[in-house]
Amino acid sequence: MASIYTFASGKGGTGKTTVSANVATALAGMGRRVLIIDTDLGMANVGLFFSLNINKTLHDVLAGDVDVREAIYEGPYGVKILPAGYTIKGYQKANIKMLEKVLDQLNREFDFIIMDTPSGINPNIIIPLKLSHYVIVVMNPEITSITDSLKTATIARGYDVPISGVIVNRIENGLSQNLRNKINESSGVDIIGEIPADVAIQKSLSLQKPVVCNYPTSAASFSLKRIAAQMAGIE
Ligand code: ADP
Ligand code: MG
Repeated sequence: MASIYTFASGKGGTGKTTVSANVATALAGMGRRVLIIDTDLGMANVGLFFSLNINKTLHDVLAGDVDVREAIYEGPYGVKILPAGYTIKGYQKANIKMLEKVLDQLNREFDFIIMDTPSGINPNIIIPLKLSHYVIVVMNPEITSITDSLKTATIARGYDVPISGVIVNRIENGLSQNLRNKINESSGVDIIGEIPADVAIQKSLSLQKPVVCNYPTSAASFSLKRIAAQMAGIE
């Protein structure tokens, strides 16, 4: 049975897609069977992130139009990807309530199922949250991002979904002890990853390849692989 993780944050642009897609790829590189699902149905980015040429998508699966296996693609190290589509029409026909069935169908085939989620508080985030075994909160080291992310954490707790920890992303010049304490105190969970602001991430995005493959020795890749190693229980 797969361990199902949701990567979530209150605010947009904290790095959910970047972090979840790279952690999924890194876990696959460690020999784990990994599926990443793009549950950001409105602003789907995962297919672009992996430079996929997509035809059938999660939108079609959630509309009951295609079998889930027709919408799964392969990325680096054999990571499997279930992308959402890019059209408004697809978004409108997709029923997020069908996600539970999708997870039931795929659960036995993977060690990890990682869900990238939208920002905000709406059914498109709440349903993946409820269906997860663990939530990882991705935030930036700014007070607004911290505050918004903690709302997501509170919602997860409300559904009894444990929060594995917080990842602080886009850190410039280190994370002050003061901010680290603030995050720990207000979230009640540990910081499990600290990822620096790194131009290698933007360069990789323009090449549409995960940074852990493209710039494996960059500072961001080091942090991302470390998070994956912790999840895989090898660190
Ligand atoms: P979200 O999915 O939370 O909306 P994204 O993963 O799409 O956020 O990231 C938003 C933007 O921030 C992207 O342009 C991405 O390349 C950039 N980004 C994310 N993390 C970092 C980082 N550690 N260093 C530099 N740029 C980053
Ligand atoms: Mg995103």
